[in-house]
Amino acid sequence: MTSAVAPITPELANAPEPFSSNKPSLIGMTQTQLRAVASEFGSPAFRGDQLHHWLYVLNERNPDNMTNLSKSFREQVFAHYQVGCLEKVSRQNSKDGTIKYLFRLNDGEVVESVLMAFQNRGTYSICLSTQVGCAMNCSFCATGKLGFTRHLTVAEIVDQYLFVQADSQQEIRNVVLMGQGEPLHNYDNTLAALRILNESAEVGMRRITLSTSGIVPDIDRLAKEELPLTLAVSLHAPTNEIRSQIMPINKKYPLEALMPSLHRYMEASGRRLTIEYLMIDGLNDSPDHADQLGRLLKGLRANVNLIPYNPISKSLPNVPSYRRPSRERVFHFSERLTSHGKKVTVRLERGVDIDAACGQLANRQSSKR
Ligand code: SAH
Ligand code: SF4
Repeated sequence: MTSAVAPITPELANAPEPFSSNKPSLIGMTQTQLRAVASEFGSPAFRGDQLHHWLYVLNERNPDNMTNLSKSFREQVFAHYQVGCLEKVSRQNSKDGTIKYLFRLNDGEVVESVLMAFQNRGTYSICLSTQVGCAMNCSFCATGKLGFTRHLTVAEIVDQYLFVQADSQQEIRNVVLMGQGEPLHNYDNTLAALRILNESAEVGMRRITLSTSGIVPDIDRLAKEELPLTLAVSLHAPTNEIRSQIMPINKKYPLEALMPSLHRYMEASGRRLTIEYLMIDGLNDSPDHADQLGRLLKGLRANVNLIPYNPISKSLPNVPSYRRPSRERVFHFSERLTSHGKKVTVRLERGVDIDAACGQLANRQSSKR
């Protein structure tokens, strides 16, 4: 069944205004923290609850429209705080409906978020970033080429969701932590942001997917949180030899450490995992590799998502000469893996023309102020 996705109009009543201010952001605060803000100005707790409702449920970014709050209360609050913490630098629309946002943060760093439209489902997913750059240095990834600059704050993660929702005026169905950065390297802020999205912005945990390159102690820590989100793991190779070649993290947490942690996660959470498998022509995409992968995943309740390599900009440092495999090769790999009893899907490339596809996010047309 196909249903059309509503067109996105740029002129919107409550579209966020750019700002340049270093006041603390209210977005990113919990309900308890917003009550504390109200009491800071001598107002009762329910004023904090009203602020909470405006910010997260109504996603209103203009204080002038928060009409059930007195003018003097608003003046006091917004003299010291700002609504959010992102300034839109650009918004690029892809031919396939994908929209990439580039945001400037208060310290001048920049970060990207991607809104993906699935025409056949009529729904939107948002891909959020968790860090400026990334420390994991995977050979195939544009973000990895930037190196690590800093973790995003709770506010910066939450505000990507709210800003894009307000700006695009779309109902966002799924949240995927697959933008820039390694979410588990920024564990505390990522988890706090997910809790706010869940508890305040009403994003169901089951609609959230967290993708990791495989930081074993943090996978164990996440298992203990007992959150019904989907854990996606960037496995990308069936052997240590290949994985270490493309993902340096594998030297620290090789497959004999990673795979048991995935089994522990599966047992503790009772949830099916997603295994992401990047396919690079001639490197990890043969039928033998599919067999090796099938054996490696034996007993693990996991769906496999094949991601044909998306080329990254040659202007980045140390870009390898990887190529995307042919459709036939992807198809044969998929068939072979399916014969091992795995459910296999191939990830659609989204927004390749605007460098918004997996692994292509590198803030290319940006510069610091
Ligand atoms: N750091 C996390 C999440 C962000 S990357 C992680 O690595 O899992 C999201 C996904 O895009 C990961 O599976 C990543 O391996 C993949 N990816 C990175 N570079 C890519 C590229 N050039 N082509 C296709 N997928 C890529
Ligand atoms: Fe970081 Fe993920 Fe890119 Fe690897 S693939 S460098 S972990 S963002």
